[in-house]
Amino acid sequence: MAKTDLMDRIVNLAKRRGLVFPSSDIYGGFRSTWDYGPLGVLLKRNVKEAWWRSMVQMREDIVGLDAAILMAPRVWEASGHIDTFTDPLVDCKQCQERFRADQLPESGACPKCGTKGSFTEARQFNLMFKTFVGPVEDAASIAYLRPETAQGIFVNYANVQTTMRRKPPFGIAQVGKSFRNEITPGNFVYRTREFEQMEMEFFVPPEDGEKWFKYWCDERMSWYTDLGIAPDTLRLRQHETSELSHYSSGTADVEFMYPWGWGELEGVANRGDYDLRKHAEFSGQDLSYFDQEKDLRYVPHVIEPAAGADRATLAFLLSAYSEEEVETAAGKTETRTVLRLDPRLAPIKVAVLPLSKNEQLVPVSAEIASALRPHWMIDVDVSGSIGRRYRRQDEVGTPLCVTVDFETLEDRCVTIRERDSMSQERVAIADLVAWLRDRLPL
Ligand code: ATP
Repeated sequence: MAKTDLMDRIVNLAKRRGLVFPSSDIYGGFRSTWDYGPLGVLLKRNVKEAWWRSMVQMREDIVGLDAAILMAPRVWEASGHIDTFTDPLVDCKQCQERFRADQLPESGACPKCGTKGSFTEARQFNLMFKTFVGPVEDAASIAYLRPETAQGIFVNYANVQTTMRRKPPFGIAQVGKSFRNEITPGNFVYRTREFEQMEMEFFVPPEDGEKWFKYWCDERMSWYTDLGIAPDTLRLRQHETSELSHYSSGTADVEFMYPWGWGELEGVANRGDYDLRKHAEFSGQDLSYFDQEKDLRYVPHVIEPAAGADRATLAFLLSAYSEEEVETAAGKTETRTVLRLDPRLAPIKVAVLPLSKNEQLVPVSAEIASALRPHWMIDVDVSGSIGRRYRRQDEVGTPLCVTVDFETLEDRCVTIRERDSMSQERVAIADLVAWLRDRLPL
């Protein structure tokens, strides 16, 4: 399958099966944002849940946080975002389209109209969305929608460190919305103006910065492969010195092979003591740490793995998508579309399917559904042929289908069909929850 085709198929499947809809669809869409539908919200929640589990629940050295999106404007002065969070913007004088100067093709031709040398001088464009707090719209009431979740962590560093009695190395993790007025949003949910980040700031003694930077690069690569991204579609790319942000002494991007080429999934940065020093300076608060054992005071250095929930969701979808030829019961071949999602990410874990709408089968299915619902996100589907219903579940990555047939009425057993192998097994209803629990990892 051609790679551009793959992207079209994913966008199409996402809309058709309730994963992702264009935002404000009935008004013709709002190009730069997307809405997650009933199955998409489950998928993205599972991605965030898997991240939270590996970052917070499974570790004794990281705690969570949920800071506000609107913050004191001084925060953005201290962080450098007001002065430096900009992209170079150029206009094509021929077709008036806008581009990021650092993303133009080497040929110098306008990507829209093909004219060469038609660009205006680049001007710096700040990516932060501005708004006003309170009823008066004047300069004193300007506030910004956060362009990253990280600053909410830095300004709470002292609150967290003291209340939770933490000693570096320790981390603070946060998942939440961020907003950037991107010049060129696009590639589906890859680049949007409103998106979700999963960021963790890890505070360490200065001399351990390099060690922890390497550690987090490895950890984060493993997180993606463990959840189903093929290692040959993932790479860690170290930034050149010229690419480094003003605060960073080392950055590596975790990149995924998207259909249009390698693209950033996550950035891992060694931010040194830049952030805490700046906030100490601007706020007048002491953000240093006193190590009693070593009788030493220092400003912790920060290692930051900063991931995007939407880009990760897209990468998992692309990695999971497959089409294969299968033989039908009638001996014909047809194409089966399957999302081979890791069961931990699958929106629906189990589908309960009565063989038909028969009045004896439907109540048994309902009874089974009630028994499973407290444990997993399930779906009950009674409409259409059983083959069609299996295909529908395959398309959204449901790992297991439980089928209730006429034999069930006699032997109180159901048939369980596995998504990838399509193999079937008979299991007693009484054992069903335990059987599923063994096969559906947390
Ligand atoms: P890019 O170079 O692609 O603009 P970035 O280097 O500015 O990304 P970071 O500031 O490192 O991105 O943000 C961390 C993560 O947040 C990114 O790796 C990405 O997953 C996510 N992210 C950033 N901007 C967007 C966006 N506009 N839409 C969706 N996700 C985004």
